[in-house]
Amino acid sequence: MNNQSEKFLYERNINKNYDFNMWFVFPGPEAFALSSLGYLWLYRAIDMMEDVNIERVYSDSKTTHIMRDKVDLIGFSFTFDMDFLHIFSFLEKNKLHFKSCERSDADPLIFAGGPVVTSNPEPYKNIFDFLVIGDGEDLNLDVVRFCVENKNLTKAQKLQQLSKMNGIYVPKISDKVVKVTKKLSECIYTPIISENAFFKNTFILEVERGCANRCGFCLASYMNMPIRFVDYEKIIETIDLGLKHTNKIALLGAQITAHPDFNKICKYVGDKIKNGENIEMGISSLRVDSFTPEIVQTLVDAGQKNLTLAIEAGSERLRRVINKHLSEDQIFKAIDVARACGLHGLKFYGMIGLPTETWEDIEEIVNLSRRIKSKYKSFDISFGFSTFVPKANTPFQWFGREDEKELEKKSNYLRKELHKLGIQSVISSAKWDYWQALLSRGDENLTDFIIEVYTQGGKLGAFKKSAKLLGLNTDYYVTQNYLYDKILPWDFIETMPGKEFLIKECQRLINL
Ligand code: SF4
Repeated sequence: MNNQSEKFLYERNINKNYDFNMWFVFPGPEAFALSSLGYLWLYRAIDMMEDVNIERVYSDSKTTHIMRDKVDLIGFSFTFDMDFLHIFSFLEKNKLHFKSCERSDADPLIFAGGPVVTSNPEPYKNIFDFLVIGDGEDLNLDVVRFCVENKNLTKAQKLQQLSKMNGIYVPKISDKVVKVTKKLSECIYTPIISENAFFKNTFILEVERGCANRCGFCLASYMNMPIRFVDYEKIIETIDLGLKHTNKIALLGAQITAHPDFNKICKYVGDKIKNGENIEMGISSLRVDSFTPEIVQTLVDAGQKNLTLAIEAGSERLRRVINKHLSEDQIFKAIDVARACGLHGLKFYGMIGLPTETWEDIEEIVNLSRRIKSKYKSFDISFGFSTFVPKANTPFQWFGREDEKELEKKSNYLRKELHKLGIQSVISSAKWDYWQALLSRGDENLTDFIIEVYTQGGKLGAFKKSAKLLGLNTDYYVTQNYLYDKILPWDFIETMPGKEFLIKECQRLINL
């Protein structure tokens, strides 16, 4: 519903003639939803449908305007593994059974889409009536259109029909699903600007999707193959639209600097700033090997105070293994550029526990930091680390995680040694990452487990307790290496580049 703090960038028809009601649920707080490009863009598209009344619902929504018994369809945007906790909380609050087989024909159809279920829907297949696999912009609209036009069919009839659509997975009906990959024919953006958003009053636009670097662990790259770019003209048009409403813009994409016209886009915004326009521009990530003075200067002039460089691993050997071809020389050159452009520090991002990693690779992170510190005495660097989580449909999906104690030893060592060098580091919790890995390589046997975790309160201890209660061998999912010929729970999804390629790529990388 309209809210004083929200500015809509499209014409809304609030006097629609509808008899179809939908809740579109973001399983997280409102502030995050209002900074979620995919969620807001879909909301806009459905909101513009003449015959549908759609309401946004968040984990912190106090109430809803559409009454529960009037809802025909509920869609969830599923972005992070742990979102399932908010999803259950929402279902419970609205007196809806968690398992689809326990809900009746009178209950609305419930579905989910987003990166979690596109990568591996199996742990959730018994929860949702159907799942959207792939790029959702057009697919979700087709689904909603179908449900509106076939409102009078029974649930079973609807699901039977939906299962025939490309990219729709109806558990127990579909045996194979083709992931949908969309051409970026338009530039998607946040159609609502709000001061309640996590990125306050910021206009976010997508300039490209995917990353051609194909790091062996990276879901963002493999799930979005091939890399696709939005046309320069469309980006400029969209930037101009955003600047009519706010002075804060953010460009989104996993490998923005690969856009063939990225320099031109920066120059377009840079010229406006030079002409006195007060614009703040940020970008989601910058690769160290495309860290050019022009780009960094534009970002600094546009108010970007911190830049993060993902180096992933400390040693060149391990960077080669993960397919990140980045030399130490390039890292030093990037720091030179950052300093010349007036930045006082940089944040590095890395990963611990990568396949083939040894203590020497960990030691190399400290050595590299020492060399940076001795060359650039007054330049601040800090580190953010996460631990390796194997993701479905990536070359490293066959690798289990390292033992938790070893990962904690490595984390403590890095924290201590970097601290001695005056470098701050933030390291993700190996314990939480363990459970994330369980979900990302999970199968349908996890249904009762995730329900139990929710029932037990959803905190860290609830995971361990639930696994014990149900006698679940969690190491099977998390730490075991799998053989290449093992049938994986998500193999039924047809997606680029295909299992054969992933096997070859995995073999190539670990033999480097
Ligand atoms: S460079 Fe970053 S986004 Fe690209 S594949 Fe590697 S980790 Fe993923």
